[in-house]
Amino acid sequence: TTDGPIKIESKGVAQEFLDSFDTFLFDCDGVLWLGTHLLPSIRETLELLNKLGKQLVFVTNNSTKSRASYCKKFASFGISVTEDQIFTSGYASAVYARDFLKLEPGRDKVWVFGESGISEELGLMGYECLGGTDPRLDEPFDHKSSPFLVDGLDPAVRCVVAGLDTKINYHRLAVSLQYLQQGEKVHFVGTNVDSTFPQKGFIFPGAGSCIASLACSSGRTPTYCGKPNMNMLNTIVSAKKLDRSRCCMVGDRLNTDIRFGVEGKLGGTLLVLTGIETEERALEVTQEHPRPRFYAEKLGDVYELTR
Ligand code: PLP
Ligand code: CA
Repeated sequence: TTDGPIKIESKGVAQEFLDSFDTFLFDCDGVLWLGTHLLPSIRETLELLNKLGKQLVFVTNNSTKSRASYCKKFASFGISVTEDQIFTSGYASAVYARDFLKLEPGRDKVWVFGESGISEELGLMGYECLGGTDPRLDEPFDHKSSPFLVDGLDPAVRCVVAGLDTKINYHRLAVSLQYLQQGEKVHFVGTNVDSTFPQKGFIFPGAGSCIASLACSSGRTPTYCGKPNMNMLNTIVSAKKLDRSRCCMVGDRLNTDIRFGVEGKLGGTLLVLTGIETEERALEVTQEHPRPRFYAEKLGDVYELTR
C-alpha cells in the first residue's frame, strides 16, 4: 500500500512540506488556537508562509460566529486576515442556499435553527431570516401562544438552516419541525455533522447533535455544508480559483479535516497533534479514517524547524 505519514520533525522535511504547496487551508480550533489561547509559534508560522508568497485560507466548522467576527478573533491574536480568507460552515451553508438551492433574496426567506453566525451570513446575501436568536424563542413553548405559530407559518420560508444552538430548547425544535414538515418546498440544510467539540478540557455536544434532533423528528436528512462535505471545499476552490494539487489541508481531526483534504483530492494533508488526535491514531491503518500525508506535534514546528 501507500507510504505512511511523514512526521515533520527535521528541517529537511519541513522544507519539503513548504515547497510542496502554494495554498494552505487551515482548520482553526485545535490547529491555530485552543479556544482563546493561541498555540506556540502560530503567528510566526503564518508570517513565514505569507513571506514565502503562500496563499492562506481558514476553514472552520464553527457556525456560531460569522466571518467578520472570526476576523476580529484573528486580530485579537495579532494576526491580520481578511474576511475573504475565512470560510465557516455557516457561510458555506449560505453559499449553498444561494448557488445550489437558488433561493432568491427579497422573495425567499430562511428559518434558522442556530446562532448569529448563520443569520449574519445569510443576511449579507440579502436573505431575510426568521428564528435564530429571536428572543421570543427563549420563551417556553406553547402552541397556542407561540408568535411563530399563532398567525401561521410564513409561506415565504423555503429553507431551514440548522447548526449548533447553545440555546437549544423545545420552542426552537418545535417551530423548526413545522417548517420541515412542509416537505420538499422547504429545503433542509445542516451546517456540519460534528457530534461533539472539545473546549476547556470538556467535550460538548456539537452541531451534529442539535441537527440530529430535527432529523429525527422530521424523518428528513439534511444536506451538510461544513467539513468534510465537498460543499465546503467547492465553495473555497471556486472562490479562490485553487489548483487542488497545490493545496494542503491542515487539521487536527482525521474524520473531518483530513478526510476533507483526501476526498477533495488536495495535493496533501497535515495532521497536527494539538487538538483531537494522537500520534498513534495518526499512524493507525484502519478503514475508520484516512491517513494524513504529513503529521506534526504542532503547526508551529514548521517555523521552528526552518528558522
Ligand atoms: N463548532 C463550534 C461551536 C466550535 O466552538 C468549534 C470550535 O471552537 C468547532 C465547531 C470546531 O471548529 P474548527 O473546525 O475550527 O475546529
Ligand atoms: Ca479543529
